[in-house]
Amino acid sequence: MQLLDTINNIDKIKSKLSKLAIYNYWDLALHIPLRYEDLTKVYPIQEAQIGQQVMVEGKIIGHEITHKRQKQLLVRIDDGSAIITLMFFHFYPNYASQYTIGKTIRAHGEIKADFFGNKTIIHPKVQTVKEDSKLSNTFTPIYPTTNGLANSAIIKLVEDLFNLNIIPELLPEAIIQQYKLMRLEPALLTLHKLTPQQFNSHIHEKALQRLKFDELIAQQLLMQNIYAKKHNNNAPVLKSTHNLIVKLLAKLPFALTNAQKKVLHEILHDMAQPQQMNRLLQGDVGSGKTIVATISALATLENGYQAVIMAPTEILAEQHYLKITQLLDEMGINVVWLSGSQTAKQKREAIAACGDGSADLIIGTHAVFQKNVEFKQLGLVVIDEQHRFGVEQRLALVNKGSADLHPHQLMMSATPIPRSLAMSYYADLDVSSIDELPAGRTPIQTMLINNSRRHEVIKFVREHASLGHQAYWVCPLIEESEKLELENALNTFDELSSQLAPIKVGLVHGKMKSKEKADIMADFVANWTQVLVATTVIEVGVDVPNASIIVIEHSERMGLAQLHQLRGRVGRGNNASQCILLYDNQQLSETAKQRLKVISTSTDGFEIARQDLLIRGPGELLGQRQSGIPALRFANLEADLEILQQAKIIAQSLAKNYPMHAKQLVELWFYQKQIYAGI
Ligand code: ADP
Ligand code: MG
Repeated sequence: MQLLDTINNIDKIKSKLSKLAIYNYWDLALHIPLRYEDLTKVYPIQEAQIGQQVMVEGKIIGHEITHKRQKQLLVRIDDGSAIITLMFFHFYPNYASQYTIGKTIRAHGEIKADFFGNKTIIHPKVQTVKEDSKLSNTFTPIYPTTNGLANSAIIKLVEDLFNLNIIPELLPEAIIQQYKLMRLEPALLTLHKLTPQQFNSHIHEKALQRLKFDELIAQQLLMQNIYAKKHNNNAPVLKSTHNLIVKLLAKLPFALTNAQKKVLHEILHDMAQPQQMNRLLQGDVGSGKTIVATISALATLENGYQAVIMAPTEILAEQHYLKITQLLDEMGINVVWLSGSQTAKQKREAIAACGDGSADLIIGTHAVFQKNVEFKQLGLVVIDEQHRFGVEQRLALVNKGSADLHPHQLMMSATPIPRSLAMSYYADLDVSSIDELPAGRTPIQTMLINNSRRHEVIKFVREHASLGHQAYWVCPLIEESEKLELENALNTFDELSSQLAPIKVGLVHGKMKSKEKADIMADFVANWTQVLVATTVIEVGVDVPNASIIVIEHSERMGLAQLHQLRGRVGRGNNASQCILLYDNQQLSETAKQRLKVISTSTDGFEIARQDLLIRGPGELLGQRQSGIPALRFANLEADLEILQQAKIIAQSLAKNYPMHAKQLVELWFYQKQIYAGI
């Protein structure tokens, strides 16, 4: 790779350039102007409109230093059409003497109106007009720059760069033709040296589009490379015989939604291949992922292999266990429970069953991937709420297959990510989406209520509980202090117990032993308690259809995904449901306001995720570590979805037919971004 060294005098400014992350010619080529100044033509002062950024030219007809509120230098120029005043607040004493009457100058800046409505430019860029002063025929680029490095120095460097003719063409001619793309060098040149004609015919947009294409193609190449590596793992061919699945479907009290059928088709197709499946199943809260997981597990069992379903919390894992054992009752399937809270003896037995193959379906928590757990013939691993698990944990389970056969992997998430993000960040996974909720769900009404009206909310809960409805009351997460969090939950529990009596109130929190938690949950499921005070432990998965009210305290502290998850605990039965978001006015930041507005106006998980992306930006949404991807410089995942889709296809074609191009693209765009290696 040719470095900037080829350019004269580069040493002096190298350290400055490194501050702008410019290390070589390619970085410089991609150092696109922030904006342009139009010094290509002179506007008659008469025609220059207020608010326009223009250049005017005229003879100096007067200058003065005034001391109104602030010391200022005023220079008046006349071009025959009208007069304009140039205003300077910062100036050296000798400035005034430079502006001698009769001299012709050009001034560039934004036209403003002064107090009396007269045209002025504040701190214009000024140049003296000589006989041979020619107007530039390109816009003047204004670059991002750093202290000690003048914009003009960057302009000069870029000029030198283009004189070297070293910008390669990174895409094969066929692709350029097919997608009607601009060639790379002219595209870059357009952006650096934009002419008014190009601007008027929108060629700069076409040029920018070319960069977006290249950036996204390079990104896709990289991700597809990782994807290909992952998909090289051998896995057992699990072609469903349907005998177990048919039995289960016959027992289900409902028909699968079309969306569930569609994703099952995708999953079962993957599992019937000799390569490992890596599929992310995303579906909004309550969209019915559990049954999809169960059916996938049955296809595994039909082939004599074992399946694991793992959940991030004891509450959720246990709920899956209870529900699935009930569903699979009398089908001759041995469902085994494995969790950290079991006694040593129980655990030993469960582990033995995994090892000797007598366990068909294993449901549990993290305990499942501990070192001492081995499987006879593991065919499928389902990981519920996958975002709760670290990558290492996921890998630990995948490695539990035999040396040459890896289990298929199905990850489930109720935190939907927008399609564009899924395509680019999870390019290593195939994505299935359940985009439809089962019919007959009653919509949830969401209300934002100031905490000062708490007593009204308590009254509301009392009235509904007396009618036989159930409610969750969620206490806030207090990140700094688990002790405070617990204290808070205990206080709320006391408060509600006394104010709601004789209605029964339960309490569940993260510090409880799992047996205790399970008992409290069982009481709530059985409707022995009507109100359940909980810390955010109930965030994921809990399914109690009779609960139709959820009150969330300090909702302003919670993220959108979390609020959406919590709200999804209700709206599961036939009763109309309410979600009450209590907020504390004093803690309401601007972003908190935005979040609460989004959550109270939408119940669509995908739309909420999209808004979350807009409020937070993609880096934060996925967590930099999880995404492992630096922010895109030119493309925008939301706005450029169409380009992304084409980039994906082009990347595949390059990898297959033009490997040298592919290599060069990735090297140039991501040569220094070693972070990728970790994905
Ligand atoms: P999630 O996708 O949030 O994990 P669940 O799998 O817990 O959702 O399903 C939510 C509820 O919807 C459960 O009570 C489940 O039995 C029910 N359910 C699932 N699929 C359907 C369907 N096709 N029709 C009606 N109810 C369904
Ligand atoms: Mg679930």
